[in-house]
Amino acid sequence: MKKMVRGLSMILVLMLSLGAIGCGTRKDAEAESTGTLTAGTYTAEEKGHNGPIAVTVTVSTEKIEKIEVEAKDETPAIAEKAIESVVEKILSSQGLGVDAVSGATVSTEALLRAVTAALEKAGADVEALKNVKAEEIEIEVKDREADIVIIGAGGAGMSAAVEAASLGKSVIIVEKMPIVGGNTNRATGGINAAETFIQEQEGIKDTVETFYEDTFKGGKEENDPELLSVLVENSAEAVDWLNELGAGLTRVSLSGGATNPRIHTPADGSAVGPVVVKVLQEKLEELGVEILMETTATKILEENGKAAGIEASNAQGKTFRIDAKAVIIAAGGFGANSEMVETFRTDLVGFSTTNHSGATGDGIELGQEAGAALDDIEQIQIHPTTDPESGYMFTEGLRGDGAVLLNAEGKRFTDELLTRDVVSANILKQKDGIAYLVTNEEMRAENAALAGYVTKEYAVKYETLEEVAKAIGAEEAAVIETMAKYKESVTSGTDVEFGRTHLEKTLEEGPYYILKVTPGIHHTMGGLKIDTQTHVINVEGKIIEGLYAAGEVTGGIHGANRIGGNAVTDIVVFGRIAGKAAADEMK
Ligand code: ADP
Repeated sequence: MKKMVRGLSMILVLMLSLGAIGCGTRKDAEAESTGTLTAGTYTAEEKGHNGPIAVTVTVSTEKIEKIEVEAKDETPAIAEKAIESVVEKILSSQGLGVDAVSGATVSTEALLRAVTAALEKAGADVEALKNVKAEEIEIEVKDREADIVIIGAGGAGMSAAVEAASLGKSVIIVEKMPIVGGNTNRATGGINAAETFIQEQEGIKDTVETFYEDTFKGGKEENDPELLSVLVENSAEAVDWLNELGAGLTRVSLSGGATNPRIHTPADGSAVGPVVVKVLQEKLEELGVEILMETTATKILEENGKAAGIEASNAQGKTFRIDAKAVIIAAGGFGANSEMVETFRTDLVGFSTTNHSGATGDGIELGQEAGAALDDIEQIQIHPTTDPESGYMFTEGLRGDGAVLLNAEGKRFTDELLTRDVVSANILKQKDGIAYLVTNEEMRAENAALAGYVTKEYAVKYETLEEVAKAIGAEEAAVIETMAKYKESVTSGTDVEFGRTHLEKTLEEGPYYILKVTPGIHHTMGGLKIDTQTHVINVEGKIIEGLYAAGEVTGGIHGANRIGGNAVTDIVVFGRIAGKAAADEMK
Protein backbone atom coordinates (compact mmCIF):
# COMPACT_ATOMS: atom_id res chain seq x y z
CA MET A 1 0.00 0.00 0.00
CA LYS A 2 2.87 2.34 0.75
CA LYS A 3 4.43 4.41 -1.98
CA MET A 4 1.32 4.36 -4.10
CA VAL A 5 2.46 7.02 -6.49
CA ARG A 6 6.19 7.22 -6.33
CA GLY A 7 6.69 3.48 -6.57
CA LEU A 8 4.99 3.26 -9.93
CA SER A 9 7.50 2.86 -12.63
CA MET A 10 6.67 3.57 -16.16
CA ILE A 11 8.63 1.98 -18.90
CA LEU A 12 7.19 2.40 -22.31
CA VAL A 13 8.46 0.71 -25.39
CA LEU A 14 6.93 1.65 -28.67
CA MET A 15 7.95 -0.01 -31.88
CA LEU A 16 7.29 1.48 -35.23
CA SER A 17 4.55 -0.36 -36.96
CA LEU A 18 5.22 -0.28 -40.66
CA GLY A 19 2.16 -0.01 -42.76
CA ALA A 20 -0.37 2.68 -43.39
CA ILE A 21 1.90 5.58 -42.73
CA GLY A 22 4.93 3.83 -44.24
CA CYS A 23 8.16 5.70 -44.33
CA GLY A 24 9.63 4.22 -47.48
CA THR A 25 9.00 6.91 -50.03
CA ARG A 26 9.02 9.82 -47.69
CA LYS A 27 12.25 8.62 -46.05
CA ASP A 28 14.00 8.33 -49.38
CA ALA A 29 13.07 11.86 -50.20
CA GLU A 30 14.35 13.11 -46.87
CA ALA A 31 17.42 10.89 -46.57
CA GLU A 32 19.74 13.65 -47.57
CA SER A 33 18.38 16.25 -45.23
CA THR A 34 18.10 14.11 -42.08
CA GLY A 35 21.74 13.09 -41.82
CA THR A 36 23.24 9.65 -41.85
CA LEU A 37 22.23 7.41 -39.01
CA THR A 38 24.82 5.14 -37.44
CA ALA A 39 22.99 1.96 -36.48
CA GLY A 40 23.01 1.32 -32.78
CA THR A 41 21.39 2.14 -29.45
CA TYR A 42 21.74 5.59 -27.95
CA THR A 43 20.67 6.92 -24.59
CA ALA A 44 19.95 10.38 -23.22
CA GLU A 45 18.31 11.83 -20.16
CA GLU A 46 16.49 15.08 -19.44
CA LYS A 47 14.80 16.52 -16.37
CA GLY A 48 11.04 15.89 -16.47
CA HIS A 49 8.37 17.20 -14.12
CA ASN A 50 9.29 15.13 -11.09
CA GLY A 51 12.59 13.56 -12.01
CA PRO A 52 14.67 12.28 -14.92
CA ILE A 53 13.18 11.05 -18.17
CA ALA A 54 15.60 8.58 -19.76
CA VAL A 55 15.33 7.38 -23.33
CA THR A 56 17.00 4.57 -25.21
CA VAL A 57 16.69 5.06 -28.93
CA THR A 58 17.53 2.26 -31.33
CA VAL A 59 18.24 3.21 -34.92
CA SER A 60 19.20 1.36 -38.06
CA THR A 61 20.92 3.17 -40.89
CA GLU A 62 17.45 3.57 -42.35
CA LYS A 63 15.27 4.80 -39.58
CA ILE A 64 14.39 5.21 -35.92
CA GLU A 65 13.44 1.67 -34.96
CA LYS A 66 12.50 1.87 -31.33
CA ILE A 67 12.19 4.34 -28.46
CA GLU A 68 12.18 3.14 -24.87
CA VAL A 69 11.27 5.61 -22.17
CA GLU A 70 11.85 5.33 -18.47
CA ALA A 71 10.05 7.99 -16.48
CA LYS A 72 9.48 6.43 -13.12
CA ASP A 73 9.06 9.68 -11.21
CA GLU A 74 6.44 11.16 -13.50
CA THR A 75 2.82 10.88 -12.43
CA PRO A 76 1.45 8.05 -14.57
CA ALA A 77 -2.06 9.50 -14.83
CA ILE A 78 -0.64 12.68 -16.28
CA ALA A 79 2.40 11.61 -18.24
CA GLU A 80 1.86 8.06 -19.48
CA LYS A 81 -0.60 8.62 -22.31
CA ALA A 82 1.13 11.84 -23.30
CA ILE A 83 4.52 10.15 -23.55
CA GLU A 84 3.01 7.29 -25.52
CA SER A 85 1.41 9.65 -28.00
CA VAL A 86 4.61 11.66 -28.55
CA VAL A 87 6.69 8.50 -29.07
CA GLU A 88 4.11 7.16 -31.49
CA LYS A 89 4.18 10.38 -33.47
CA ILE A 90 7.98 10.45 -33.66
CA LEU A 91 8.07 6.87 -34.88
CA SER A 92 5.24 7.14 -37.36
CA SER A 93 6.50 10.40 -38.85
CA GLN A 94 10.19 9.51 -38.43
CA GLY A 95 10.59 13.13 -37.47
CA LEU A 96 10.87 15.47 -34.53
CA GLY A 97 8.26 17.99 -35.63
CA VAL A 98 6.02 16.83 -32.81
CA ASP A 99 4.36 19.19 -30.34
CA ALA A 100 4.53 18.76 -26.58
CA VAL A 101 1.22 17.62 -25.09
CA SER A 102 -0.66 20.33 -23.29
CA GLY A 103 -1.35 19.28 -19.72
CA ALA A 104 1.88 17.28 -19.67
CA THR A 105 4.09 19.92 -21.23
CA VAL A 106 7.10 19.61 -18.94
CA SER A 107 7.29 15.82 -19.30
CA THR A 108 6.77 15.73 -23.05
CA GLU A 109 9.15 18.62 -23.73
CA ALA A 110 11.80 16.77 -21.71
CA LEU A 111 11.07 13.61 -23.69
CA LEU A 112 11.46 15.46 -26.99
CA ARG A 113 14.75 16.96 -25.83
CA ALA A 114 16.04 13.55 -24.74
CA VAL A 115 15.10 11.86 -28.03
CA THR A 116 16.68 14.74 -29.91
CA ALA A 117 19.91 14.33 -27.92
CA ALA A 118 19.98 10.58 -28.53
CA LEU A 119 19.41 11.05 -32.26
CA GLU A 120 22.13 13.64 -32.40
CA LYS A 121 24.50 11.02 -30.98
CA ALA A 122 23.34 8.69 -33.74
CA GLY A 123 24.44 11.22 -36.30
CA ALA A 124 21.00 12.48 -37.31
CA ASP A 125 20.50 15.99 -38.63
CA VAL A 126 18.09 16.92 -35.86
CA GLU A 127 17.34 20.37 -37.25
CA ALA A 128 16.08 18.74 -40.44
CA LEU A 129 14.13 16.17 -38.43
CA LYS A 130 12.38 18.97 -36.57
CA ASN A 131 10.88 20.05 -39.88
CA VAL A 132 9.34 16.64 -40.44
CA LYS A 133 5.86 17.07 -39.05
CA ALA A 134 3.74 14.26 -37.71
CA GLU A 135 1.01 13.50 -40.18
CA GLU A 136 -2.49 14.38 -39.20
CA ILE A 137 -4.61 11.31 -39.58
CA GLU A 138 -8.21 12.12 -40.30
CA ILE A 139 -10.31 10.90 -37.41
CA GLU A 140 -13.74 9.74 -38.42
CA VAL A 141 -16.57 10.84 -36.18
CA LYS A 142 -19.96 9.27 -35.81
CA ASP A 143 -22.95 10.12 -33.70
CA ARG A 144 -23.25 8.05 -30.58
CA GLU A 145 -25.68 7.04 -27.94
CA ALA A 146 -25.41 6.16 -24.25
CA ASP A 147 -27.59 6.08 -21.18
CA ILE A 148 -25.52 8.81 -19.56
CA VAL A 149 -22.99 11.23 -20.99
CA ILE A 150 -20.52 12.93 -18.69
CA ILE A 151 -18.65 16.11 -19.51
CA GLY A 152 -15.14 16.02 -18.03
CA ALA A 153 -12.90 13.20 -16.83
CA GLY A 154 -11.71 14.80 -13.60
CA GLY A 155 -12.38 13.38 -10.15
CA ALA A 156 -16.07 14.27 -10.18
CA GLY A 157 -16.79 12.97 -13.67
CA MET A 158 -14.92 9.73 -13.14
CA SER A 159 -16.55 9.13 -9.73
CA ALA A 160 -19.95 9.66 -11.35
CA ALA A 161 -19.05 7.30 -14.18
CA VAL A 162 -17.92 4.55 -11.80
CA GLU A 163 -21.23 4.72 -9.91
CA ALA A 164 -23.43 4.85 -12.99
CA ALA A 165 -21.56 2.08 -14.80
CA SER A 166 -21.60 -0.07 -11.66
CA LEU A 167 -25.38 0.26 -11.76
CA GLY A 168 -25.34 -1.23 -15.22
CA LYS A 169 -25.79 1.94 -17.26
CA SER A 170 -23.89 2.67 -20.45
CA VAL A 171 -21.70 5.73 -19.95
CA ILE A 172 -19.58 7.87 -22.24
CA ILE A 173 -17.24 10.50 -20.85
CA VAL A 174 -15.94 13.31 -23.04
CA GLU A 175 -12.66 14.91 -22.00
CA LYS A 176 -11.33 17.87 -23.89
CA MET A 177 -7.70 17.51 -22.84
CA PRO A 178 -5.27 14.79 -24.03
CA ILE A 179 -5.02 13.51 -20.44
CA VAL A 180 -7.61 12.69 -17.81
CA GLY A 181 -7.70 14.11 -14.30
CA GLY A 182 -8.05 17.88 -14.78
CA ASN A 183 -7.37 19.87 -11.64
CA THR A 184 -7.81 16.68 -9.62
CA ASN A 185 -4.31 15.68 -10.78
CA ARG A 186 -3.10 18.75 -8.95
CA ALA A 187 -4.77 18.07 -5.62
CA THR A 188 -1.57 18.07 -3.63
CA GLY A 189 -3.09 17.69 -0.19
CA GLY A 190 -5.56 15.05 0.88
CA ILE A 191 -9.25 14.38 1.37
CA ASN A 192 -11.05 15.62 4.47
CA ALA A 193 -13.41 13.21 6.19
CA ALA A 194 -14.78 12.81 9.69
CA GLU A 195 -15.53 9.68 11.70
CA THR A 196 -13.46 7.48 9.43
CA PHE A 197 -12.16 4.06 10.26
CA ILE A 198 -8.61 5.41 10.05
CA GLN A 199 -9.28 8.23 12.53
CA GLU A 200 -10.87 5.74 14.88
CA GLN A 201 -7.86 3.45 14.64
CA GLU A 202 -5.60 6.33 15.57
CA GLY A 203 -7.78 7.41 18.45
CA ILE A 204 -8.69 10.72 16.82
CA LYS A 205 -11.98 11.95 18.21
CA ASP A 206 -13.54 13.84 15.36
CA THR A 207 -17.20 14.25 14.51
CA VAL A 208 -19.26 15.02 11.45
CA GLU A 209 -20.68 17.99 13.40
CA THR A 210 -17.22 19.48 14.03
CA PHE A 211 -16.38 18.96 10.38
CA TYR A 212 -19.57 20.84 9.47
CA GLU A 213 -18.82 23.66 11.90
CA ASP A 214 -15.20 24.06 10.74
CA THR A 215 -16.26 24.16 7.09
CA PHE A 216 -19.14 26.56 7.77
CA LYS A 217 -16.89 28.86 9.77
CA GLY A 218 -14.12 28.61 7.15
CA GLY A 219 -16.69 29.37 4.44
CA LYS A 220 -17.77 32.49 6.36
CA GLU A 221 -21.15 30.89 6.94
CA GLU A 222 -22.03 31.37 3.30
CA ASN A 223 -22.05 27.65 2.49
CA ASP A 224 -25.38 26.14 1.49
CA PRO A 225 -26.25 24.26 4.72
CA GLU A 226 -27.99 21.37 2.94
CA LEU A 227 -25.16 20.75 0.50
CA LEU A 228 -22.64 21.06 3.31
CA SER A 229 -24.50 18.46 5.38
CA VAL A 230 -24.35 16.06 2.44
CA LEU A 231 -20.62 16.71 2.07
CA VAL A 232 -19.69 15.97 5.67
CA GLU A 233 -22.13 13.11 6.23
CA ASN A 234 -20.83 11.20 3.21
CA SER A 235 -17.17 11.99 3.74
CA ALA A 236 -16.12 8.87 5.64
CA GLU A 237 -17.82 6.66 3.09
CA ALA A 238 -15.98 8.48 0.31
CA VAL A 239 -12.63 7.61 1.90
CA ASP A 240 -13.71 3.96 2.36
CA TRP A 241 -14.83 3.86 -1.26
CA LEU A 242 -11.52 5.22 -2.56
CA ASN A 243 -9.61 2.80 -0.35
CA GLU A 244 -11.69 -0.09 -1.64
CA LEU A 245 -10.61 0.98 -5.11
CA GLY A 246 -7.01 0.77 -3.91
CA ALA A 247 -6.14 4.38 -3.03
CA GLY A 248 -4.38 3.49 0.23
CA LEU A 249 -5.32 6.70 2.04
CA THR A 250 -4.14 5.62 5.46
CA ARG A 251 -2.46 8.67 6.91
CA VAL A 252 -4.41 11.36 8.77
CA SER A 253 -2.95 14.79 9.48
CA LEU A 254 -4.02 18.19 10.61
CA SER A 255 -4.65 20.85 8.00
CA GLY A 256 -5.58 24.55 7.95
CA GLY A 257 -9.03 25.39 9.32
CA ALA A 258 -9.62 21.96 10.88
CA THR A 259 -10.17 21.42 14.61
CA ASN A 260 -9.02 17.79 14.44
CA PRO A 261 -6.69 15.80 12.20
CA ARG A 262 -8.96 14.79 9.30
CA ILE A 263 -7.04 15.18 6.06
CA HIS A 264 -6.43 11.69 4.62
CA THR A 265 -3.47 11.07 2.34
CA PRO A 266 -1.38 8.15 1.10
CA ALA A 267 0.78 6.68 3.87
CA ASP A 268 3.90 8.58 2.81
CA GLY A 269 2.10 11.93 2.84
CA SER A 270 2.26 12.26 -0.94
CA ALA A 271 -0.43 14.01 -2.98
CA VAL A 272 -3.93 12.57 -3.04
CA GLY A 273 -4.95 13.75 -6.53
CA PRO A 274 -2.88 11.49 -8.79
CA VAL A 275 -3.81 8.47 -6.66
CA VAL A 276 -7.53 9.24 -6.90
CA VAL A 277 -7.25 9.73 -10.66
CA LYS A 278 -5.33 6.49 -11.03
CA VAL A 279 -7.76 4.29 -9.11
CA LEU A 280 -10.81 5.82 -10.80
CA GLN A 281 -9.25 5.41 -14.22
CA GLU A 282 -8.41 1.78 -13.52
CA LYS A 283 -11.93 1.10 -12.30
CA LEU A 284 -13.38 2.71 -15.42
CA GLU A 285 -11.19 0.53 -17.59
CA GLU A 286 -12.41 -2.51 -15.69
CA LEU A 287 -16.02 -1.39 -16.15
CA GLY A 288 -15.41 -0.76 -19.85
CA VAL A 289 -16.41 2.91 -19.74
CA GLU A 290 -15.35 4.78 -22.83
CA ILE A 291 -13.56 8.10 -22.43
CA LEU A 292 -13.42 10.12 -25.63
CA MET A 293 -10.20 12.09 -25.28
CA GLU A 294 -9.58 15.50 -26.83
CA THR A 295 -13.31 15.79 -27.25
CA THR A 296 -14.98 18.98 -26.14
CA ALA A 297 -18.64 19.27 -25.19
CA THR A 298 -19.95 22.31 -27.03
CA LYS A 299 -23.66 22.18 -26.32
CA ILE A 300 -26.21 20.43 -24.15
CA LEU A 301 -28.98 19.02 -26.27
CA GLU A 302 -32.54 19.44 -25.13
CA GLU A 303 -35.75 17.63 -25.92
CA ASN A 304 -39.09 18.61 -24.41
CA GLY A 305 -37.40 20.62 -21.67
CA LYS A 306 -35.12 17.73 -20.74
CA ALA A 307 -31.39 17.31 -21.24
CA ALA A 308 -31.02 14.75 -24.01
CA GLY A 309 -27.30 14.51 -24.72
CA ILE A 310 -24.54 16.74 -25.96
CA GLU A 311 -22.94 18.07 -29.06
CA ALA A 312 -19.21 17.50 -29.05
CA SER A 313 -16.23 18.44 -31.14
CA ASN A 314 -13.15 16.25 -31.65
CA ALA A 315 -9.49 17.32 -31.80
CA GLN A 316 -9.88 18.18 -35.47
CA GLY A 317 -12.95 20.29 -34.87
CA LYS A 318 -15.43 17.78 -36.28
CA THR A 319 -18.72 17.86 -34.45
CA PHE A 320 -21.02 14.99 -33.59
CA ARG A 321 -23.83 14.22 -31.14
CA ILE A 322 -24.05 11.91 -28.24
CA ASP A 323 -27.68 11.22 -27.45
CA ALA A 324 -28.30 10.29 -23.83
CA LYS A 325 -31.03 10.08 -21.25
CA ALA A 326 -29.02 12.10 -18.74
CA VAL A 327 -26.12 14.55 -18.85
CA ILE A 328 -23.69 15.14 -16.00
CA ILE A 329 -21.63 18.31 -16.13
CA ALA A 330 -18.32 17.66 -14.37
CA ALA A 331 -16.17 20.07 -16.35
CA GLY A 332 -14.40 21.70 -13.40
CA GLY A 333 -13.88 25.36 -12.59
CA PHE A 334 -12.61 28.46 -14.39
CA GLY A 335 -9.38 29.22 -12.54
CA ALA A 336 -7.36 29.15 -15.78
CA ASN A 337 -9.72 31.53 -17.58
CA SER A 338 -8.36 34.90 -16.54
CA GLU A 339 -11.03 36.78 -18.50
CA MET A 340 -13.79 35.00 -16.64
CA VAL A 341 -12.00 35.43 -13.31
CA GLU A 342 -11.66 39.15 -13.95
CA THR A 343 -15.31 39.43 -14.97
CA PHE A 344 -16.45 38.21 -11.59
CA ARG A 345 -13.57 39.64 -9.55
CA THR A 346 -11.98 42.83 -10.76
CA ASP A 347 -9.54 42.69 -7.83
CA LEU A 348 -7.92 39.50 -9.16
CA VAL A 349 -6.39 40.95 -12.32
CA GLY A 350 -2.98 39.57 -13.27
CA PHE A 351 -2.81 36.74 -10.75
CA SER A 352 -1.02 33.53 -11.67
CA THR A 353 -3.01 30.29 -11.48
CA THR A 354 -2.41 26.86 -10.01
CA ASN A 355 -4.95 25.35 -12.42
CA HIS A 356 -4.50 23.06 -15.41
CA SER A 357 -5.07 24.80 -18.73
CA GLY A 358 -8.45 23.13 -19.30
CA ALA A 359 -10.07 24.86 -16.31
CA THR A 360 -11.80 27.41 -18.50
CA GLY A 361 -15.33 27.36 -17.15
CA ASP A 362 -16.94 25.60 -20.14
CA GLY A 363 -19.28 23.72 -17.81
CA ILE A 364 -20.64 26.93 -16.37
CA GLU A 365 -21.32 28.35 -19.81
CA LEU A 366 -22.89 25.11 -21.06
CA GLY A 367 -25.08 24.95 -17.96
CA GLN A 368 -26.15 28.57 -18.28
CA GLU A 369 -27.08 28.06 -21.92
CA ALA A 370 -29.32 25.23 -20.71
CA GLY A 371 -30.97 27.63 -18.25
CA ALA A 372 -28.98 26.95 -15.07
CA ALA A 373 -28.73 29.43 -12.22
CA LEU A 374 -25.40 30.25 -10.62
CA ASP A 375 -24.44 30.19 -6.98
CA ASP A 376 -21.59 32.14 -5.31
CA ILE A 377 -19.94 32.73 -8.68
CA GLU A 378 -17.77 35.58 -7.38
CA GLN A 379 -16.19 33.36 -4.72
CA ILE A 380 -12.71 32.63 -5.98
CA GLN A 381 -10.03 31.22 -3.76
CA ILE A 382 -6.40 32.06 -3.90
CA HIS A 383 -3.97 29.48 -2.55
CA PRO A 384 -1.43 30.99 -0.17
CA THR A 385 1.63 29.03 -1.20
CA THR A 386 2.33 28.82 -4.92
CA ASP A 387 5.55 29.20 -6.88
CA PRO A 388 5.72 32.85 -8.01
CA GLU A 389 6.99 31.89 -11.45
CA SER A 390 5.04 28.80 -12.49
CA GLY A 391 2.00 28.91 -10.20
CA TYR A 392 2.95 25.42 -8.99
CA MET A 393 1.23 24.84 -5.69
CA PHE A 394 2.84 23.67 -2.49
CA THR A 395 0.60 21.65 -0.23
CA GLU A 396 -0.92 23.14 2.83
CA GLY A 397 0.15 19.97 4.64
CA LEU A 398 3.63 21.46 4.92
CA ARG A 399 2.37 24.12 7.28
CA GLY A 400 0.27 21.55 9.11
CA ASP A 401 3.37 19.40 9.53
CA GLY A 402 5.39 22.25 11.00
CA ALA A 403 6.63 24.75 8.40
CA VAL A 404 6.63 28.47 9.18
CA LEU A 405 6.36 31.51 6.94
CA LEU A 406 8.90 34.32 7.00
CA ASN A 407 8.85 37.61 5.13
CA ALA A 408 11.84 39.20 3.42
CA GLU A 409 12.82 40.78 6.72
CA GLY A 410 13.15 37.34 8.24
CA LYS A 411 10.09 37.73 10.47
CA ARG A 412 7.00 35.62 10.93
CA PHE A 413 3.84 37.58 10.22
CA THR A 414 0.90 35.20 10.67
CA ASP A 415 -0.43 32.08 12.34
CA GLU A 416 0.44 29.80 9.42
CA LEU A 417 -2.57 27.58 10.03
CA LEU A 418 -5.32 30.14 9.58
CA THR A 419 -7.68 29.59 6.63
CA ARG A 420 -6.38 30.06 3.10
CA ASP A 421 -7.96 33.45 2.55
CA VAL A 422 -6.46 34.93 5.72
CA VAL A 423 -2.98 33.47 5.17
CA SER A 424 -3.10 34.65 1.53
CA ALA A 425 -4.13 38.16 2.58
CA ASN A 426 -1.34 38.25 5.13
CA ILE A 427 1.25 37.20 2.54
CA LEU A 428 -0.02 39.85 0.14
CA LYS A 429 0.67 42.48 2.82
CA GLN A 430 4.40 41.57 2.75
CA LYS A 431 6.95 43.10 0.39
CA ASP A 432 6.10 42.19 -3.24
CA GLY A 433 3.46 39.80 -1.92
CA ILE A 434 6.21 37.24 -1.32
CA ALA A 435 6.95 34.97 1.64
CA TYR A 436 9.33 32.12 2.40
CA LEU A 437 8.19 28.77 3.69
CA VAL A 438 10.81 27.36 6.05
CA THR A 439 11.18 23.59 6.40
CA ASN A 440 14.11 21.43 7.41
CA GLU A 441 15.70 18.02 6.94
CA GLU A 442 13.61 16.45 9.69
CA MET A 443 10.46 17.46 7.80
CA ARG A 444 11.85 16.40 4.41
CA ALA A 445 12.54 12.91 5.74
CA GLU A 446 8.92 12.54 6.85
CA ASN A 447 7.07 14.22 4.03
CA ALA A 448 7.11 12.85 0.48
CA ALA A 449 5.59 16.02 -0.92
CA LEU A 450 8.44 18.11 0.46
CA ALA A 451 10.99 15.55 -0.75
CA GLY A 452 9.41 16.00 -4.21
CA TYR A 453 9.76 19.80 -4.05
CA VAL A 454 13.43 19.31 -3.21
CA THR A 455 13.93 16.99 -6.20
CA LYS A 456 12.07 19.41 -8.45
CA GLU A 457 14.29 22.19 -7.12
CA TYR A 458 11.43 24.33 -5.85
CA ALA A 459 12.77 23.90 -2.33
CA VAL A 460 16.32 25.18 -2.04
CA LYS A 461 18.69 23.73 0.53
CA TYR A 462 20.66 25.90 2.96
CA GLU A 463 22.86 24.48 5.69
CA THR A 464 22.34 27.21 8.26
CA LEU A 465 19.96 30.01 9.21
CA GLU A 466 22.68 32.47 8.22
CA GLU A 467 22.56 31.09 4.70
CA VAL A 468 18.76 31.29 4.75
CA ALA A 469 18.96 34.95 5.78
CA LYS A 470 21.36 35.71 2.96
CA ALA A 471 19.15 33.96 0.42
CA ILE A 472 15.99 35.85 1.35
CA GLY A 473 17.77 39.16 1.78
CA ALA A 474 17.15 39.49 5.52
CA GLU A 475 19.46 40.38 8.41
CA GLU A 476 21.06 37.24 9.84
CA ALA A 477 20.20 38.35 13.35
CA ALA A 478 16.54 38.78 12.44
CA VAL A 479 16.17 35.24 11.09
CA ILE A 480 18.05 33.74 14.02
CA GLU A 481 15.91 35.67 16.50
CA THR A 482 12.66 34.73 14.75
CA MET A 483 13.52 31.05 14.69
CA ALA A 484 14.72 31.09 18.30
CA LYS A 485 11.44 32.68 19.35
CA TYR A 486 9.54 30.09 17.36
CA LYS A 487 11.46 27.26 18.97
CA GLU A 488 10.55 28.72 22.35
CA SER A 489 6.87 28.76 21.35
CA VAL A 490 7.00 25.13 20.26
CA THR A 491 8.78 24.08 23.44
CA SER A 492 6.39 25.98 25.71
CA GLY A 493 3.35 25.05 23.63
CA THR A 494 2.26 28.68 23.29
CA ASP A 495 2.86 30.85 20.28
CA VAL A 496 2.98 34.22 21.99
CA GLU A 497 3.38 36.08 18.73
CA PHE A 498 0.57 34.76 16.55
CA GLY A 499 -1.38 32.24 18.57
CA ARG A 500 -0.65 29.23 16.38
CA THR A 501 -1.99 26.28 18.31
CA HIS A 502 -0.45 23.36 16.45
CA LEU A 503 3.25 23.62 17.08
CA GLU A 504 4.80 20.54 15.54
CA LYS A 505 8.52 21.09 15.06
CA THR A 506 11.11 23.38 16.63
CA LEU A 507 12.93 23.62 13.27
CA GLU A 508 16.09 24.18 15.28
CA GLU A 509 18.30 21.98 13.15
CA GLY A 510 19.32 22.39 9.54
CA PRO A 511 19.79 21.82 6.78
CA TYR A 512 16.84 24.00 5.82
CA TYR A 513 14.71 23.84 2.70
CA ILE A 514 13.15 27.12 1.66
CA LEU A 515 10.27 27.63 -0.74
CA LYS A 516 9.56 31.08 -2.15
CA VAL A 517 5.79 31.55 -2.26
CA THR A 518 3.01 33.88 -3.31
CA PRO A 519 -0.76 33.40 -3.47
CA GLY A 520 -2.22 32.27 -6.84
CA ILE A 521 -5.75 31.66 -8.21
CA HIS A 522 -6.64 28.24 -7.02
CA HIS A 523 -10.27 27.25 -6.80
CA THR A 524 -13.47 28.69 -8.14
CA MET A 525 -15.95 27.97 -5.40
CA GLY A 526 -19.01 29.25 -7.19
CA GLY A 527 -20.72 27.69 -10.16
CA LEU A 528 -23.88 25.92 -11.24
CA LYS A 529 -26.62 25.79 -8.67
CA ILE A 530 -27.49 22.24 -7.65
CA ASP A 531 -29.67 20.52 -5.08
CA THR A 532 -28.58 17.74 -2.73
CA GLN A 533 -29.16 15.17 -5.48
CA THR A 534 -26.96 17.20 -7.87
CA HIS A 535 -29.88 18.23 -10.09
CA VAL A 536 -29.03 21.45 -11.86
CA ILE A 537 -31.42 24.20 -10.80
CA ASN A 538 -32.66 26.76 -13.31
CA VAL A 539 -33.10 30.49 -12.84
CA GLU A 540 -36.67 29.95 -11.67
CA GLY A 541 -35.49 27.63 -8.93
CA LYS A 542 -36.71 24.48 -10.69
CA ILE A 543 -34.87 21.29 -11.55
CA ILE A 544 -33.72 20.97 -15.16
CA GLU A 545 -34.72 17.42 -15.88
CA GLY A 546 -31.98 15.05 -16.95
CA LEU A 547 -29.22 17.52 -16.09
CA TYR A 548 -26.82 16.95 -13.19
CA ALA A 549 -23.61 18.63 -12.10
CA ALA A 550 -20.85 17.79 -9.65
CA GLY A 551 -17.42 19.00 -8.59
CA GLU A 552 -15.75 22.34 -9.05
CA VAL A 553 -18.27 23.35 -11.70
CA THR A 554 -20.92 23.69 -8.98
CA GLY A 555 -21.39 26.38 -6.35
CA GLY A 556 -22.62 26.64 -2.79
CA ILE A 557 -20.74 23.91 -0.99
CA HIS A 558 -17.67 25.84 0.09
CA GLY A 559 -19.23 29.24 0.68
CA ALA A 560 -16.77 32.13 0.68
CA ASN A 561 -13.65 30.08 1.35
CA ARG A 562 -12.82 26.45 0.75
CA ILE A 563 -10.99 24.55 3.43
CA GLY A 564 -7.96 22.66 2.08
CA GLY A 565 -8.83 18.98 1.63
CA ASN A 566 -12.51 19.61 0.93
CA ALA A 567 -12.26 19.68 -2.87
CA VAL A 568 -11.53 15.98 -3.08
CA THR A 569 -14.34 15.24 -0.64
CA ASP A 570 -16.62 17.36 -2.82
CA ILE A 571 -15.78 15.66 -6.10
CA VAL A 572 -16.04 12.15 -4.73
CA VAL A 573 -19.18 12.68 -2.63
CA PHE A 574 -21.14 14.68 -5.21
CA GLY A 575 -19.66 12.85 -8.21
CA ARG A 576 -20.96 9.59 -6.77
CA ILE A 577 -24.36 11.09 -6.00
CA ALA A 578 -24.62 12.45 -9.55
CA GLY A 579 -23.79 9.08 -11.08
CA LYS A 580 -26.28 7.31 -8.89
CA ALA A 581 -29.06 9.89 -9.27
CA ALA A 582 -28.67 10.00 -13.05
CA ALA A 583 -28.78 6.19 -13.22
CA ASP A 584 -31.75 5.84 -10.85
CA GLU A 585 -33.87 8.55 -12.42
CA MET A 586 -33.15 7.70 -16.03
CA LYS A 587 -36.25 7.21 -18.08
P1 ADP B 1 -13.40 18.25 -10.73
O1 ADP B 1 -12.40 18.41 -9.62
O2 ADP B 1 -14.66 18.95 -10.48
O3 ADP B 1 -13.56 16.84 -11.15
P2 ADP B 1 -11.38 18.69 -12.72
O4 ADP B 1 -10.73 19.96 -13.08
O5 ADP B 1 -10.57 17.70 -11.98
O6 ADP B 1 -12.72 19.04 -11.94
O7 ADP B 1 -11.91 17.96 -14.03
C1 ADP B 1 -12.70 18.58 -14.97
C2 ADP B 1 -12.36 18.01 -16.34
O8 ADP B 1 -13.30 18.48 -17.30
C3 ADP B 1 -10.99 18.41 -16.83
O9 ADP B 1 -10.25 17.27 -17.15
C4 ADP B 1 -11.29 19.28 -18.04
O10 ADP B 1 -10.30 19.21 -19.04
C5 ADP B 1 -12.61 18.72 -18.52
N1 ADP B 1 -13.40 19.66 -19.34
C6 ADP B 1 -13.57 20.99 -19.15
N2 ADP B 1 -14.36 21.51 -20.08
C7 ADP B 1 -14.72 20.49 -20.91
C8 ADP B 1 -15.52 20.39 -22.08
N3 ADP B 1 -16.13 21.46 -22.62
N4 ADP B 1 -15.65 19.17 -22.67
C9 ADP B 1 -15.02 18.09 -22.16
N5 ADP B 1 -14.25 18.13 -21.07
C10 ADP B 1 -14.10 19.29 -20.44
